[in-house]
Amino acid sequence: MPATADQVIEKVHGLRDALVEAVGEAVRIPSVNPRYPGQVYDDVVGGEGAVSRYVAGIYEQIGCEVDVFAIEPGRDNAVGTLRGRGGGRSLIFNGHSDVVPPGDLGAWTSGDPYSGRHDGERIWGRGSTDMKGGVLAQAFAAMALREAGVELAGDLILEAVAGEEVMNHDIGTTAVVERGYRADAAVVAEPSAPPAPLAVVPVTPGLLWFSLTVRGKASHASMRAEAIRAGGLGSAVAVSAIDKGVAMFMAIRELEEQWGQTKRHELFAPGHFTIHPGVVTGGPEGVLVPFVVSEFMTTEYCVWYHPDDDPADVRAEIEQHVARAAQLDPWLREHPPEFEWKLTWPAARVAADHPIVSATLDAHELAAVGTAYAGRPEVRGFAAVEDTSFLCAAGIPAISYGPGDIRVAHAADEYVLVDELMTACCTYALLAMSWCGVAGDAS
Ligand SMILES: [Zn+2]
Repeated sequence: MPATADQVIEKVHGLRDALVEAVGEAVRIPSVNPRYPGQVYDDVVGGEGAVSRYVAGIYEQIGCEVDVFAIEPGRDNAVGTLRGRGGGRSLIFNGHSDVVPPGDLGAWTSGDPYSGRHDGERIWGRGSTDMKGGVLAQAFAAMALREAGVELAGDLILEAVAGEEVMNHDIGTTAVVERGYRADAAVVAEPSAPPAPLAVVPVTPGLLWFSLTVRGKASHASMRAEAIRAGGLGSAVAVSAIDKGVAMFMAIRELEEQWGQTKRHELFAPGHFTIHPGVVTGGPEGVLVPFVVSEFMTTEYCVWYHPDDDPADVRAEIEQHVARAAQLDPWLREHPPEFEWKLTWPAARVAADHPIVSATLDAHELAAVGTAYAGRPEVRGFAAVEDTSFLCAAGIPAISYGPGDIRVAHAADEYVLVDELMTACCTYALLAMSWCGVAGDAS
């Protein structure tokens, strides 16, 4: 007789210590994405592969068919297939092995960023939330199914992939798809809070990265009065790139405000779509001292755009807005601000009424009975972008549901709550049963 949901949940609970230990172990393998800005590739490469191979060992224990491969040396992907008996829908559980750098070590009051320390309530360290906790919760869900003697009808494909943090999907998630791993749906274990823990996320914004550079005209800093006061020489002597750049900065700010009013999506809080000025540099070329009228101002922006917008249209909208603002200034009319577009990360979109969404909601509701996470999860848009974009782009409906909170991801003192990890693990197990079907189960 096939195992019941209760029996599977009991098996998950029996694996609690092993799951906590495995997450700690994975956190202790530093796996910073070697292409993350500021990293020396050769010093860092290899960590992702080590994590994927560690996870592959667990896939092996479960009895999966295991495939470990790398497009770039040291950056292995691990795939574990729990072959179904036939007749059911297939499902991908996906997560990434790479992490972002720990940042300022002094900000880690919880200790070493790679401690993987467990204090009874939380597991601490870089990657605990984003997203080694989720990757291992998915693997241990499959382990619980095996221990409960559940045989699925459809295939369950477990994936730990490299490259996510800098959109290296071509060596990670997309490479795994191109190797032939496809399914009727996918659940990526990204930390799917806020607004609520363990939200079900069928949609993400898109992301653009661009820089805007405004040029000025250098002169001795004492010429500022000549440059800006009535009756002075004006642009014949000097133009401050920072003065002009700030005007363009404010123009983009104004567009961002318009977006706040006009770009709405039912699964996102009002105003979610923004044009974030993350870095400003400027001054004279060469040495950054205030004794020369500034020659350049460059602002680096990341744009969280509406999932229904075409990225080419968004680029055009921003460029046109800046061009119109520049027309109002005699210098900028002659010396237009320069755009450099650096990255386009497409949005992920699955309909909120897609069966994988309702199946995940149902599985959570069943899994979370009697826990702090009881009830039906919220269905919300993801704050950021992730690999669901590339699964969706390959035609595989992909949503996110996972333990952790994006507010502690990429930050100091990252952690994941063990109870949340356990609830996610139970949900994954029950979801695999309901989505893939259980062999021999007539219901
Ligand atoms: Zn992530």
